[in-house]
Amino acid sequence: MSEEKVYDLIIVGGGPAGLSAAIYASRAKLDTLVLEKNFVGGQMANTDIIENYPGFPDGVSGSDLVSRMEEQAEKFGAEIDFADIEGLEVDGGVKRLKTSEGDYLSRALIIATGTEQRKLGVKGEAEFTGRGVSYCAVCDGAFYTGKIIAVVGGGNSAVEEAVYLTNFASKVYLIHRRDSLRAERLLQERLFANEKIEVIWNSIVTEIKGDKFVEAVSIKNLLTGEVKDVAVSGVFVYVGVVPNSQVFKGVLELDEWGYIKTNEEMETSIDGIFAAGDVRASVLKQVITAAAEGAIAATFAEKYVREQVYFDQNISSGRKVVVVYSSITDEGREIVKCMSELEASNVIAIDGYKNSRISRKLGVEKFPAVRIFDNGKEVYSNDGISVHEIVNLLKERGII
Ligand SMILES: Cc1cc2nc3c(=O)[nH]c(=O)nc-3n(C[C@H](O)[C@H](O)[C@H](O)COP(=O)(O)OP(=O)(O)OC[C@H]3O[C@@H](n4cnc5c(N)ncnc54)[C@H](O)[C@@H]3O)c2cc1C
Repeated sequence: MSEEKVYDLIIVGGGPAGLSAAIYASRAKLDTLVLEKNFVGGQMANTDIIENYPGFPDGVSGSDLVSRMEEQAEKFGAEIDFADIEGLEVDGGVKRLKTSEGDYLSRALIIATGTEQRKLGVKGEAEFTGRGVSYCAVCDGAFYTGKIIAVVGGGNSAVEEAVYLTNFASKVYLIHRRDSLRAERLLQERLFANEKIEVIWNSIVTEIKGDKFVEAVSIKNLLTGEVKDVAVSGVFVYVGVVPNSQVFKGVLELDEWGYIKTNEEMETSIDGIFAAGDVRASVLKQVITAAAEGAIAATFAEKYVREQVYFDQNISSGRKVVVVYSSITDEGREIVKCMSELEASNVIAIDGYKNSRISRKLGVEKFPAVRIFDNGKEVYSNDGISVHEIVNLLKERGII
């Protein structure tokens, strides 16, 4: 990759949010790159059957949906590359991503890095990860054919995966710290109807034990304080998630749990940087909301890029005057009329009401406003200036 190449848009994360953003952006003809650190599809790729994505009454396998989204994004011209994002620097309009494969530059950025499973944080967990401890039933379930395993958690993912794992395991313990589950009713019904599943209520895992591979979990009953070992060959952990936003901490505004804050247009606290999907502070974290947010982010990223390109191309050379007005005021309408009559080719009139990003970029505090640029460098600025004053200024400077 050439260090100098500046993409219109880079999307970090190749899950449903990232892929949907890639479809919208590349279809809108933005030069779009998706950067993914592991495998395309994110959590969706690890989901056996998705039953609640519209259009698939019999459900759709996560990997099928991934392939379709990937194919659609590539069909419209999106590039997909593999790199782990390790840092972000914002230098004016250009965003520099520091990655395991070098630096990547873009005008706009969509962060769609999703979440990852929270760790239990108990003795033996790290030691036996990959040797009995797993966070992905679809990836590892088949290794436990005919064996006894435990699933830890009480939400949708834990319940869904416990049921799924009965396709392989001879018995599944669901270990939950409360006396009721948080999972949706339908999922709970499936769980309780499944004879291979036994729920261990009011209990937490205190240690994962074994020699080369997992052999048992120590479980503490929170009501009685009793600790006992249960023989299992595998432990699947689904005790919540943490957002993959650590890299952006200190750069972007995050909420108290580390999710990226945005407005309704998916804009983060930095101009030209958007966030979508599970990594965003939001009320529902599903494939459909991730895809929808990706679409919204891409739509506004496109608007941002077009404005940037237009602006940069128009002010970068020679002497240019930018008049920013509001089209919803009488004064604004007078400016439009006056500017078209003057026919000055080096005067750019921008409706700051409709192009709020450009107004922000120019630091406009009050309409109408004037900025004069010499070869892209701002040499004059005045906010709240009248039409009469603007015309005088242009005359004085020999612009008209
Ligand atoms: C077990 C399970 C079952 C589920 N079942 C359903 C279901 O039935 N229906 C439903 O609608 N939803 C379901 N979900 C939720 C759904 O999968 C997520 O809401 C959705 O995948 C979120 O999409 P996303 O694109 O925001 O993030 P993710 O899918 O998490 O994708 C994020 C991507 O970003 C990448 N990434 C992270 N950090 C970096 C980095 N630094 N550099 C580069 N790339 C990075 C990751 O590798 C990943 O590929 C389930 C989730 C789980 C865990």
